[in-house]
Amino acid sequence: MTINSNKKATVSFESLLKIFTVPEGPESTLTQIESALSHNLNAFLNDHIVAEEKPLADIERDFAQAQIPDEPEFVSVHTDHLLEKVVAHSVHTASPHFIGHMTSALPYFLLPLAKVMTALNQNLVKIETSKAFTPLERQVLGMLHHLIYQRSDAFYAPLMHSASHSLGAFCSGGTVANITALWVARNHALPADGGFAGIAHSGLNAALRHYGYDDLAILVSERGHYSLKKAADVLGIGQNNVVTIPTDEHNRLDLAAFETTLTQLKQKNVCVFAVVGIAGTTETGNVDPLPAMAKICQRENIHFHVDAAWGGATLFSDTHRHLLRGIEQADSVTIDAHKQLYIPMGAGMVLFKNPSALQAIEHHAQYILRAGSKDLGSHTLEGSRSGIAMLVYSSLHILGRRGYQLLIDQSIQKAHFFARLISEQADFELVSKPELCLLTYRYVPHIAVKALAIATQEQQNKLNALLNELTIFMQKKQRENGRSFVSRTQLTPLRWSSYPIVVFRVVLANPLTTEDILRSVLDEQRHLAQQATSLLKMIEADCRAILDQS
Ligand SMILES: *Cc1c(COP(=O)(O)O)cnc(C)c1O
Repeated sequence: MTINSNKKATVSFESLLKIFTVPEGPESTLTQIESALSHNLNAFLNDHIVAEEKPLADIERDFAQAQIPDEPEFVSVHTDHLLEKVVAHSVHTASPHFIGHMTSALPYFLLPLAKVMTALNQNLVKIETSKAFTPLERQVLGMLHHLIYQRSDAFYAPLMHSASHSLGAFCSGGTVANITALWVARNHALPADGGFAGIAHSGLNAALRHYGYDDLAILVSERGHYSLKKAADVLGIGQNNVVTIPTDEHNRLDLAAFETTLTQLKQKNVCVFAVVGIAGTTETGNVDPLPAMAKICQRENIHFHVDAAWGGATLFSDTHRHLLRGIEQADSVTIDAHKQLYIPMGAGMVLFKNPSALQAIEHHAQYILRAGSKDLGSHTLEGSRSGIAMLVYSSLHILGRRGYQLLIDQSIQKAHFFARLISEQADFELVSKPELCLLTYRYVPHIAVKALAIATQEQQNKLNALLNELTIFMQKKQRENGRSFVSRTQLTPLRWSSYPIVVFRVVLANPLTTEDILRSVLDEQRHLAQQATSLLKMIEADCRAILDQS
């Protein structure tokens, strides 16, 4: 597309005025550019195989110039540039062969709706710049609140649009949702008291002095998301005071260890102000024992937060909702809309059981967010915010609860299929079984399976170290080849005496991923393993030594 490409663009105030006026009609530049862009975008989105990989270092050379271009450029010329330099070298997250992360294809209707959202450019910080978008966002929060807490219509009616209540806060993602929940928990734990104005006004030092604590802590299992450490850092708690509890063989928080840690911290005069349960860990997709954790938190009067950023959408499914049993007892819950709600990046929520809880972080200003106003900005960490809640609203209507249920059910079913398929192979090892639609596994040559079964602890560790190198080699090669993508992480399974094991991690989010694609991923990986000739030789030699010995 090269409209005007032989003419030179010039700056004039008149041309700038044109830029701010939407061109209309089927022959307009906007229509032409959009059709060219969407043509190219469709080619990109429907192309399952990544074109020849351009190394990141080469791409960086295309983005090396620090000078802002002095001269203007025609929009049409610039979009050609974008297609060539950016779109062509972005990641095919929409590909059904891309099964390594929580980011997937989107329902097509979100593309035009996102354009409407951009065109309206609402700012949800205050009603004066958002009007209908504010009640819309509050309703979306109400719907997600109901999904979790299942309260009656009579409960929601007076609260949905009440200036003095909030069922939750909309934000850019799980990280900010977790920060918001822990911010509320921290302020609730150290409130105003007599002459003391509370931590929100007087700060951490004064609060510790007033309440006579030596320190504050947040408890979570060792599978906790790194965003909790960021939260502890910004809230002045300190990353080291996110105390991690060991997990059992299913990657779920170990309750006995949890009780022991609680007792130890109490003896050290540390105030545990929040416990985080995980409903769908990022690495293995497992769910903590939420009912038991909720009970302990009630007994100890500790804020119980559930991080369901990824797994929360399971609640849409009547078939699988029971897996998250206990979530309704949480004081707060994080759910990301840009994960299993299939919304574009930048949409997260935190919901609070108590509709008054968010008052703990209320802020006011004179020109907006006046006391008693319904401005959403008085209860959010972020200030100016987009109207992306509209996309959640539309998806909830267009897909409906039943649509989401189907999506969740088929994802979990596919994960079970893939787990079975892996288990049936003589040379693959399923490392973590899928509880939701996430699983981990690795490639283990058949001879190594046999050797590991009889090896001593020391021999096992040595062999596992080599297998780790093999997994890393395979995952990198697979990504470079661009036919398919799985991610990798490191786990410490009890089966291998807690030795760190590198594993492939698969998230079956894309409804377009088929069983045949999953079969082809294993075939491709088996093929890739054969390219690691020297590693395979070392593994084989070690295995022979172990097997000959016995
Ligand atoms: C993804 C995720 C987060 C972080 O969410 P972002 O949207 O990336 O900020 C937090 N917790 C869990 C369990 C997650 O899966």
